[in-house]
Amino acid sequence: MLYYSTNRKSEPVSLREAVTRGLAPDNGLYMPETIGRFEPAFFRELPALPFREIAMRVAEKLFGEDIPPGTLQEIVYDTLGFDCPLVKVSDRIWALELFHGPTMAFKDVGARFMARMLRHFHDKEGAPLHVLVATSGDTGSAVANGFLGVEGIHVTVLYPSGKVSEIQEKQFSTLGRNISALEVEGTFDDCQQLVKEAFLDPELTRRMRLTSANSINVARFLPQSFYYFNAWARWLEETRTPGTAPVIAVPSGNFGNLTAGMVAREMGLPVARFIAANNENDIVYQYLKTGQYHPRPSVETLANAMDVGAPSNFARILDLYGHSHRRIREVTGGFRLTDDGIREVIRNVHVQTGYLCDPHGACGYAALLAHLGEHEEGIFLETAHPSKFMETMEEITGAGTVPLPERLAAFLGKEKRSVPMSSRYADFREWLLARANA
Ligand SMILES: *Cc1c(COP(=O)(O)O)cnc(C)c1O
Repeated sequence: MLYYSTNRKSEPVSLREAVTRGLAPDNGLYMPETIGRFEPAFFRELPALPFREIAMRVAEKLFGEDIPPGTLQEIVYDTLGFDCPLVKVSDRIWALELFHGPTMAFKDVGARFMARMLRHFHDKEGAPLHVLVATSGDTGSAVANGFLGVEGIHVTVLYPSGKVSEIQEKQFSTLGRNISALEVEGTFDDCQQLVKEAFLDPELTRRMRLTSANSINVARFLPQSFYYFNAWARWLEETRTPGTAPVIAVPSGNFGNLTAGMVAREMGLPVARFIAANNENDIVYQYLKTGQYHPRPSVETLANAMDVGAPSNFARILDLYGHSHRRIREVTGGFRLTDDGIREVIRNVHVQTGYLCDPHGACGYAALLAHLGEHEEGIFLETAHPSKFMETMEEITGAGTVPLPERLAAFLGKEKRSVPMSSRYADFREWLLARANA
């Protein structure tokens, strides 16, 4: 299968090239040339299959031409060493819990899959591959844990000193092995600038193989479609009303998660429609309302992983629906929730149902509540475990209401091993080159 750039100025490339490049040379995002549709028989069979088997069928449709079945199965099964269960919250609303992976956020799925696909495509005899990732918190931990122990690949996480939470920092700075954490004296933007300069440095890129693991990579974006199929299968098992389709609400920032759902729908998955849930960074909400797309600087909210002012995957949504505002609106509704709204939803859902939404999931829940028709049922994506936002949560639901899972507690007990780094490019470069020669 070939992958074309949404800007259509670069040549289409193989999966291998799309995955190792990330962004197309014309700055567009790669999309598969065809999105295969499943036969109706597949959907009759689906409820009887376990998650990993469902994921494998979807993976074969997407990547089957490019990766041998045995290898693909290894990648899929190894990625999904945890479940994405569907949990009933109220009469007509379910949560799809995507936080049962190593860092307890949905990015684990994409990051783990990408690490394994990159290992498959990476020339084992050749020089090691260096993955650079700048993070304001969650991406660094998902990528670092996703690549942990993957042979031939070294990950360097750059993060702003003092500007990520203790639990976030521990999740990528305690790992060791093939993961290095650089604690940068500066802001997130400084970290991102260092990474950008490295990619643009001809001598450096000649001496070492560099790549990025950000969310625009097809190997991170496409596997997110797996759990939409599983959600539908588990939902059908419970409701037993064939022929119907749920509404699915997706808490969104860069819109990779929602776009993967749209790809699943194009593959034939019965989804009545999506609701794109924004926080106060409501650029896509405004677009859906007015047809005008105006990126703007992001503002800080309680659902901080959704604080994005120029959603990178929006280009893929436009491309998928031929830039038609009408078609996009047929497939997805919009919603926005303020911080006060987030607090209210978390409190009300907790009191009324006993379920704990995290600040991101709360946007999804509220979006469903606002949009669900009288006879419709809905699923919202729970993108992170509430304990990742302990302070916010306890302020809202009271001390002692949010359990700290074993997995996160274990990170807290480990020793941080970050390397202090200035925000000067020369220092970062010197550190990288020392590794290239090591
Ligand atoms: C990254 C993230 C999101 C936003 O996902 P996109 O694919 O960027 O839209 C939502 N919730 C959490 C917890 C996240 O980490």
